[in-house]
Amino acid sequence: MGYQGVEKLSFTNKPKCISNDVLEFCKQINSDSNPRFIDVRNEEFGKEGECFENVKNFIKKYGGKELIGWAIWEIPQVMLEAEFHCAVKMKDKIIDVTPRINNEKQIVFIPDPQKKYTGQSIDNLRYPIINSKVVKDFIKISEENALLQNKYCKPGDPLNNIGKNELIPMQEKILEIYTPFQLLCIKKRKNNDYCICGSYEKYRKCCMDKKICIINDILEMKRQIQPRMK
Ligand SMILES: [Zn+2]
Repeated sequence: MGYQGVEKLSFTNKPKCISNDVLEFCKQINSDSNPRFIDVRNEEFGKEGECFENVKNFIKKYGGKELIGWAIWEIPQVMLEAEFHCAVKMKDKIIDVTPRINNEKQIVFIPDPQKKYTGQSIDNLRYPIINSKVVKDFIKISEENALLQNKYCKPGDPLNNIGKNELIPMQEKILEIYTPFQLLCIKKRKNNDYCICGSYEKYRKCCMDKKICIINDILEMKRQIQPRMK
């Protein structure tokens, strides 16, 4: 594998270990539980991003119980992110039954059984690892955008003009903030971290040589998108 264009970049990885930052973040999410690595089991009915449906199908076939919680993701040296998630509890084992874009064989999961799923999408939680304005701005805009998406982009509801009037300026703000955020994610990546292409190879052995070319591609993409939005 290797770098295949900006749209294939994957800054967010499964954490390399349960670090102090992961523990601190998880304590804020649910202090009654602990994060752990759990295995991903791929079934033919498994669909990316459809954890609740996958869990239902899995339980129908093999038994077990639904377990709500959060999957924890890491942008090394930059930020942690928690994704609302549903896994399966079988005896004393927890299994993830939702396939992943980068084909992870394990994920980090923290159970949070008190949290209820009502059908409305639940935004990721974010935890800055470094003190940086770029990261703060990125977290703020991500939260604002999720609120707007929930307000205007309900499944099956056509987007009305009021929605468009708020969503288009939001897309411009996101673009403004996302480019420096991407550059920071590349700058902070260390040799032995997972690669930014999603291969789970070491960065040093995978796309690190192409760093300059990746940065130029990101800047070029911003130049191309910006005039189109005016
Ligand atoms: Zn790579």
